Amino acid sequence: MNSRRRRIWLSLAVALSLAVFLPGSVLAEAPVKNVILLIGDGMGINQITAARINLEAGAHSVLNLDTMPYTGFSINFANNNLITDSAAAATALATGFRTDTGRLGTLPDGTPVQSIMLKAKEMGLSTGIVATVKVTDATPAAFLVNADSRALERDIVKAVLAAGPDVLLGGGADAFGINPFTKKPKSNALILQALEEGYTFVADRESLLSLEITPGMKLIGLFIGGDMSFEITRLPTEPSLLEMAERALEVVGHNPQGFFLMIEGSRIDRAGHTQSVKELVGEVLMFDQVVGLALEYARANPGTLVVVTADHETGGLAITGGQPSGEPVTYGWVSTAHTGSMVPIYAFGPGAERFSGTLQITDIPRRIAELMGIGDFPALKEGY
Ligand SMILES: [Zn+2]
Repeated sequence: MNSRRRRIWLSLAVALSLAVFLPGSVLAEAPVKNVILLIGDGMGINQITAARINLEAGAHSVLNLDTMPYTGFSINFANNNLITDSAAAATALATGFRTDTGRLGTLPDGTPVQSIMLKAKEMGLSTGIVATVKVTDATPAAFLVNADSRALERDIVKAVLAAGPDVLLGGGADAFGINPFTKKPKSNALILQALEEGYTFVADRESLLSLEITPGMKLIGLFIGGDMSFEITRLPTEPSLLEMAERALEVVGHNPQGFFLMIEGSRIDRAGHTQSVKELVGEVLMFDQVVGLALEYARANPGTLVVVTADHETGGLAITGGQPSGEPVTYGWVSTAHTGSMVPIYAFGPGAERFSGTLQITDIPRRIAELMGIGDFPALKEGY
């Protein structure tokens, strides 16, 4: 090899090794600006299959989920139990650490850890939570709170408000001190402080849909005292998950720095606990419409990463018989609780290929953080 050729080979090798070994966090421009993380609580593969079969073309139908280009599996066991609960799984998804069941944003020894959503907030991004259970429930709370138990509701409300997400939409008005009849805060309501700090508050579907959304707005919408209704029996005063997701995207989408939005199809889990296929299908199909909205947003706004996953499967649902046309289909359940099966991951957008294969549940936020250019993640909470 002559010296000129050797020089070319050398510079090629240097360029290649730089390209391979430069970690995402030191790239001048991170590939991901906006993150939409969609969590189907209790949504295993057969919950998705059941939803698909119940569309018009039966098993030939195509869900929005089915169009996502990269898929993987998440190994989701909790630190102290093969069968996780939503608190431990959501902590893993929010912080990149495995913990014991019941814990929110804390390690098994109680040490608080940082949430990727609050890291994003520190970087100047907008943040938002949308759920169909109480917004203080395990999955939403794990993104905002550090608590030893998911049961400490009053503390969780205070911590959720102190975390200060730009959007918070879902159920749970009672714990915030909203009068169930007047829909206004009681005199000692925990939400009063947030209203003084400039949050806009809405309590019903009509107010949410007619709201004028302006840049920099902070929005809390609590549409029922406890968990919201199943989609198939939704009250006229309750917005759908899709309607909440649309408004949340408008609020966070105003920030030129980007956003981190977590949307939970929360009650897929409840339909699994009660082994109700009808309610389950309604929940998954509504969740899939939100997947469609997220994909549409990501196509129109480059730099948007959409990741869809579940915390765990609920009920041990199986499809046991039927015709491809979708009728009659028979189902079997093995449990009224969570099961230990792997759950799916779907991804679209820059870096989506990094979510294919078999991942640990904790890899999901770690890879999102890398793509967002967050260097110090996962991490203990500052001061610990
Ligand atoms: Zn559950």
